[in-house]
Amino acid sequence: MTQCLNWQQLSAAEQTAALARPSLPDSAGLTTTVAGIIAEVRRDGDAALKRLSTQFDGLTDNALLLSQAQRAALIAELKPERKAAIELAYGNIRRFHAAQQPSDIQVETTPGVFCELRQRPIGSVGLYIPGGSAPLPSTVLMLGVPAQLAGCPCTVLVTPPGRPSASDIAPEIVYAAELCGIQQIFTIGGAQAIAALAYGTASIPKVDKIFGPGNRYVTEAKQQVSQDAQGAMIDMPAGPSEVLVLADDSANPAFVAADLLSQAEHGPDSQVLLVSPSQSLIDKVLQHLEQQLKILPRADIARQALSHSRAICTADLATAVAVTNAYAPEHLIVQTYDDDALVPQFTSAASIFVGPWTPESAGDYASGTNHVLPTYGYSRTASSLSLTDFYRRFTVQKLTAAGMQAIGPAIVTLAEAEQLGAHALAVSLRLQQLGLQQLDL
Ligand code: NAD
Repeated sequence: MTQCLNWQQLSAAEQTAALARPSLPDSAGLTTTVAGIIAEVRRDGDAALKRLSTQFDGLTDNALLLSQAQRAALIAELKPERKAAIELAYGNIRRFHAAQQPSDIQVETTPGVFCELRQRPIGSVGLYIPGGSAPLPSTVLMLGVPAQLAGCPCTVLVTPPGRPSASDIAPEIVYAAELCGIQQIFTIGGAQAIAALAYGTASIPKVDKIFGPGNRYVTEAKQQVSQDAQGAMIDMPAGPSEVLVLADDSANPAFVAADLLSQAEHGPDSQVLLVSPSQSLIDKVLQHLEQQLKILPRADIARQALSHSRAICTADLATAVAVTNAYAPEHLIVQTYDDDALVPQFTSAASIFVGPWTPESAGDYASGTNHVLPTYGYSRTASSLSLTDFYRRFTVQKLTAAGMQAIGPAIVTLAEAEQLGAHALAVSLRLQQLGLQQLDL
């Protein structure tokens, strides 16, 4: 099932192919379908949302907004151990993100020249919580906690409608939203939900920035609305989720297999790579994969993902690190003799899980780090979602007369070098007022 490769025996082209992501399905059909959905929502608002709910989710009764009574009734159904688990995760995510609070800075760069960087919460944010194949309350926490900590005045959540009635969404999603202080929950999913958030309808407020993962329709819609100045900003480029496990023969092969499978069960398009200098570890992991698949409820999905996964045997640990850096994984799990010594050598992973007691599941749910991460190699430059993504930064500056006197002549020189006469004039007039320059006007 998993393709086994020996790195040293591959040509340069084969090595590149071994680390390639599958091309993203960006058919003209998808672009056109999503553009059509967005146009329909912009034209017909709530009526379009209800029509599209019927078409794609088979629901004719979608009232869109979950009422307070419906929210309370759903929370009342929740088992105490589920509530406690959500609260534990909420506490850790909150503690880690609260420590990321940005602070304003003020610098007097030259006497009389004051420059400030200020941070303020984004006015309105929309959180997309996928729900087509599985409800994801963990994603509510990953998006809702930083929105709450930043103090975004308007936070709206959208998630696909439930069954048999639109309001039958997962109680865990509603409880997590309650903890995060999310004011409104709308039962709408897919590209139509993104269009509603980007442009607004009578029921759903227009937001400034949209966060959250989703299927190809959701992802395409986010791209399209973010390219329209009247649409909305989005959090980050997203593709199918991925993990790379780097392990040597000190690793527990059952742990490694379980970590690979926990990624593979996300979806058939998940990317799973094992990189190791030990062929014997690779062989043992492959055996454990087969055994564990027998007991997994989502084994079918995991098998499809594993069918395009790769186990790469390298000559040594240093090459394994180089292969990892070349791939730039979203999630990197390290299980070797000396994990801590390796960590500084990783240059491109989005989130690193160190040692045998740190499965990806810890970060997916409850350790405190954010599970919304750049995929597809974007982690070379893009970062994990953080509190600062819910802020906008802007600068403020003020010059006194002394400040103008100090830097004005240099500004005039630079403006003249760029042949921007009006820029130079704006300063020269002030220097003249200060008696420092004569102008013939
Ligand atoms: P989803 O909420 O993204 O999409 C469901 C909606 O898609 C439905 O409500 C429906 O309106 C719309 N839809 C379905 N078929 C359609 C069609 N033929 N035409 C137009 N619209 C259609 O839920 P999902 O489908 O379960 O997908 C969840 C996705 O989120 C998965 O791909 C998963 O990998 C991804 N995900 C990623 C991360 C991450 O951090 N990268 C985390 C969780 C989930």
